[in-house]
Amino acid sequence: MPIPTENVGSLPRPAKLQAAIKDYDAGKITQQQLTLQQDAACLDSIKRMEATGAPIVSDGEQRASSFATYPLTDTLAGTGLAENLAADGQYFAIFIDGHHRQLPRLTGGPFRYKTFAADYLEKAVKMASKPLKQAVIAPSMLALLYPLDGEVQGYTREQFLSDLCNECEKDIRKCFAAGAARVSIDFTEGRLACKNDPRNPWTGRGMLEHFIELNNRVIDRFSPAERKNIGIHTCPGGDCDSTHSAEVDYAELLPSLFKMNAGYFLIQLASEKDKERVYKLCGQYSREDANGVAQVCFIGVIDPLNPRVETAEEVCADLVLASKYIPTARLGSTDDCGFSPFSIDVKPKHGSPDAARDIAFEKIAARVKGTQMASEELGFRAAA
Ligand SMILES: [Zn+2]
Repeated sequence: MPIPTENVGSLPRPAKLQAAIKDYDAGKITQQQLTLQQDAACLDSIKRMEATGAPIVSDGEQRASSFATYPLTDTLAGTGLAENLAADGQYFAIFIDGHHRQLPRLTGGPFRYKTFAADYLEKAVKMASKPLKQAVIAPSMLALLYPLDGEVQGYTREQFLSDLCNECEKDIRKCFAAGAARVSIDFTEGRLACKNDPRNPWTGRGMLEHFIELNNRVIDRFSPAERKNIGIHTCPGGDCDSTHSAEVDYAELLPSLFKMNAGYFLIQLASEKDKERVYKLCGQYSREDANGVAQVCFIGVIDPLNPRVETAEEVCADLVLASKYIPTARLGSTDDCGFSPFSIDVKPKHGSPDAARDIAFEKIAARVKGTQMASEELGFRAAA
């Protein structure tokens, strides 16, 4: 088998779709009209991703309000917010360029998803000729819907966490049932949990171990055969070409990260200053046997926040260097993050979302080609 390669999930929404979302929020177009734009963007995303040569593709999350809020709301402006939620929750993250993203707030129980990732996937399956992956949100992110202190009246934190874990499990199982070859769990709050940003109170509370336990509460409900295809994505955020926790040392995160009993990890690395040190940490802390499954490290070789397209040679060199520290049988390649985890994103460093889409497909093609080169160099047989 050659070295596996897989994207994280999202692509920039075309300018036309972003305009349609705003028109929908303003009541100028119907949901049906918005859906037509989403259909077109999904089809374009899948066809162009397939054309890069990628062995596994996604719909680029073109229907999702964001990687974190898709179960809860139709748009980031709060149109179609699920029951028992208010729009004014805590900050999820404050990015280094100063902008922030906010979560809804739980106002009562029970907590239920309004939309499952499989609702999108079922439509994508009909458009694709290659295997599909689907990203889902981690329970640890949605745990932040519950107020940090105090209790929601009539709905204890433990009742909420129990409902949350059930919904997350259902989200993953429905993806596999709809035909997903792989399901990865977005865990961008993991690295952010190691930071203490006084403007964002939840970050200063040492919540990483709680997050890991909560996620394992869901992951451990799956068999080793299922967990082989359940991944975890870690990154320092990637919104509007900006990050929220890139200064956090991976040495603080990785020992805990690999305690999650997932079969693979999609790890931001292309934009790290000292990649070799992180490869070494991945080799050191990833486990050959995580309750019956070997942990495969997909190292980030593409930076979605930087418009410069990496060369296939650079991708190949990263993988060859990483193979010094990570066993080649447990090595893969990925992008550092989704190319646009939030639906409304002008991709400022790229000039426009449409330009950023063109660049994204060039970058994915370079990842695929460079990974093939590394496979050959490291002595893997090319796929028949
Ligand atoms: Zn990410």
